[in-house]
Parts: sequence; structure tokens; C-alpha cells
Amino acid sequence: MSKHYAVFGHPVAHSLSPRIHTAFGRQTGIPVDYAAIDAEPGQFVHALGDFASRGGVGANVTLPLKQAAFSLCDDLTERARRAGAVNTLVRNGDTWHGDNTDGAGLVRDLTDRHALDLRARRTLLLGAGGAARGVAPALLDAGIGDLYIVNRTAQRSDALADALGEPGRVHPRYLQDLPSMGEFDLIINATSAARDGGIPSLPRSIIGPRCAAVDLNYGEVAILFLAWARASGCHDVVDGLGMLVEQAAASFALWHGVRPETDAVYDSLLARHDALVTA
Ligand code: NDP
Repeated sequence: MSKHYAVFGHPVAHSLSPRIHTAFGRQTGIPVDYAAIDAEPGQFVHALGDFASRGGVGANVTLPLKQAAFSLCDDLTERARRAGAVNTLVRNGDTWHGDNTDGAGLVRDLTDRHALDLRARRTLLLGAGGAARGVAPALLDAGIGDLYIVNRTAQRSDALADALGEPGRVHPRYLQDLPSMGEFDLIINATSAARDGGIPSLPRSIIGPRCAAVDLNYGEVAILFLAWARASGCHDVVDGLGMLVEQAAASFALWHGVRPETDAVYDSLLARHDALVTA
């Protein structure tokens, strides 16, 4: 049976992952059959089982399914376990092995492509969903300073802080605390709020003199937050396109044993997105 790969999400039609993995396949000479499969949370387990029975051996998982993917894995990498969320599934016999490449992808994009020194940055993470869970452990490992997690639903920021297990360094806080939380050196928007047309209300007082703002979203979905950051005086402003390409390259390496080169794929997507955003 030929091998199939896919990204599962809901919605997923917008996903750039099929285009990225096809480009990596072309570059490395590895034939890649990679589809986008829409699965509502209640149907995910069934859809994944069906995929496996048709020769599915590897999958990416995007919102809102990363925590569900974590729960169905038979074994996990250490970084997926710490995140409590899975973005990459590898078929292992009759079972699924789970990994999370989001955090490594973000750190690689920020430090290598954008030359940001993350060390000792007082960091604000907005959101506590699957993406926030994926990036938080990698940011801590990259040497950021204290990490403050603020989410619309407070229980989820509390749960993420508990899972990270560094009480002296990781602090869950409430949205209403933002005006009294002081200045940050790094602010990361890991919410999907802009998909519904808005971003959380943010006071300008949270922006420190060397503050970098990062939106894990990209293209039109990142415009609101990054425009706010620029207008409020942020020094560096980065969207999530590079993270998307880097996490995909890490997934590709897990499945095919070869790490593709990412700059050409990033540049071509950037050109396409600039065109979309300015159109
Ligand atoms: P989830 O559905 O798991 O989590 C969504 C998060 O956004 C939650 O923290 C949720 O808060 C918050 N949120 C949603 N709507 C609002 C709102 N109106 N106001 C305030 N907070 C809100 O999604 P993911 O974590 O998987 O993804 C988050 C975003 O990151 C997505 O838009 C996704 O596309 C992007 N992403 C980008 C990646 C990349 O490679 N560049 C990789 C992964 C994700 P609550 O808990 O209260 O519901």
C-alpha cells in the first residue's frame, strides 16, 4: 500500500501544509502524498483510524485537535509530553507515536531567521491552547526569563503553568491584570482570536524598550496584532509563517529521515502572502 500523509484540523481548507510538504518532497526527491482532512473534534479519532486503514503513516494536527491527538497517542516524545499537545503523528505498527515540533520550529525561526536573542527576555504568552502549549517548553529551554501566561479562560492558563512545572519562573495571570503587569521584552500572540475578527484588548504599558512581538498566526490573521504592536512601538515584529515552515521541516525529517532546506519555501510563501495581504 502506498504511504499517505495529511494534516487534520477544523477548519483546515486554509492550511499551507500540503503546499509546504509537496515543496519539500520536490526538493529532496521524495514522493509525497499529503492531503488536508477536515475533522470535527468528535470525529477525529474515527477519521484518523480511517486514514490509517488507507495507508496513512504520518499526520500533522492543527487547531483545535492538538490536545485530542495527545490523548490518543500510545507513546510520546518528552517535548510532546511536556506540552500536553501533539502536532505530529507517526504510525508505528498499529499505534501512533506523538511529537510536537511547534516549539522547536518557533525558536529556530526567531533565533536563526530573525536573529532574535531570546535569553532573559521577560515574556508574555497570550493564549493557552494547543499552540501555546507547544511553544512554551521550547521558549523556556531557549533561556527566556520569566514567562507570564494570560488566557481568556483562566483555568487553561493555570493548567499550562502547572504542566510546565517551574513555579518560580512561570506565572499564570488574568487578562484584567495586564495593565499592572509591567513591561515585557517578548510578547507572543498564541490565540486564534483574530480568526473571529478581534484580538484581546492590550494596554500599551506592556511594551518594553526592546520588545519583540510575535504572532503565531500569519497572513491576514496576523495583521491586527502586529499592527497594534508596530503602532505601540515594538522593536521587532514577526508573524508565524517561518514557524509554520520550520515545524513542517521537523515533521518531514521525522517521517522521511531527511531535513529539508527551508529558506526557499519560506521565501516563496512570503511573496505569496505579501501579495495576499496587500491585495
Ligand atoms: P486552540 O483552539 O487550541 O486555542 C485557541 C486559543 O485562542 C485559546 O487560548 C483561546 O482561549 C484563545 N482565543 C480564541 N478566541 C479568543 C478570543 N476571542 N479572545 C481571546 N482569546 C481567544 O488553537 P491553537 O492553540 O492550536 O492555535 C492558536 C493560533 O495559533 C491559531 O490561529 C493557529 O493558526 C496558530 N498556529 C500557528 C502555527 C504556526 O506554525 N505558525 C502553529 C500552531 C498554531 P480560550 O482557552 O479561552 O478558549
